[in-house]
Amino acid sequence: MSEKINSKCAQCRRAGEKLMLKGEKCLSPKCPMNKRNYPPGMHGPNQKRTKMSGYGRQLKEKQKVKRVYGLIERQFANYVAEASNKVGDTSKLLIACLESRLDNVVFRAGFAKSRLTARQLVTHGHFTVNGRKVDIPSYRVKSGDVVAIKELAKNKKGMQGLEERLAKAEYPSWISTDAKTLSAKVLNAPVLENPNFNPASIIEFYSR
Ligand code: SF4
Repeated sequence: MSEKINSKCAQCRRAGEKLMLKGEKCLSPKCPMNKRNYPPGMHGPNQKRTKMSGYGRQLKEKQKVKRVYGLIERQFANYVAEASNKVGDTSKLLIACLESRLDNVVFRAGFAKSRLTARQLVTHGHFTVNGRKVDIPSYRVKSGDVVAIKELAKNKKGMQGLEERLAKAEYPSWISTDAKTLSAKVLNAPVLENPNFNPASIIEFYSR
């Protein structure tokens, strides 16, 4: 029987690295990248990963980050343009743009196991920001904002056992999650201590 390729996992296999798009599955032995770290499709196993040009590497890097955050080209290009137009370290500014999206904050705060799930939860109106419902995944949080699960959503599928899970989870330094109230405060502008992508190379790609 032919293997059914999950589209998210196929993205990892095309990228040649784990993009961690499926939550718990990514850390389990079920991750297809453990056994099939080659592009999907009939010729996948025989395809060699050829040496790339500088342009090819930059293109691959931006495609990877778009997939990780689940963005379409226009949204991603807008973030790069916004970061480039601000005064400061463009790489850090780009990271702050991406990380301050509400769906990402819900994921980073431990309320969802993947960004995709976080996006669905936000779209379904399960979260508030400073006490007001926000159902726009691209909504940008600021320092001092409090993101919380709505009372009615606390019993939804996927939320069971959340309190215990949050108590054990690790969080980035710019988020403080309260497992008791199921809320998270944004302490500072988002940063990534060890990004698994090269923002400078992406910015260079768009400045060509
Ligand atoms: Fe699928 Fe996650 Fe493994 Fe990627 S890292 S192949 S999304 S299970």
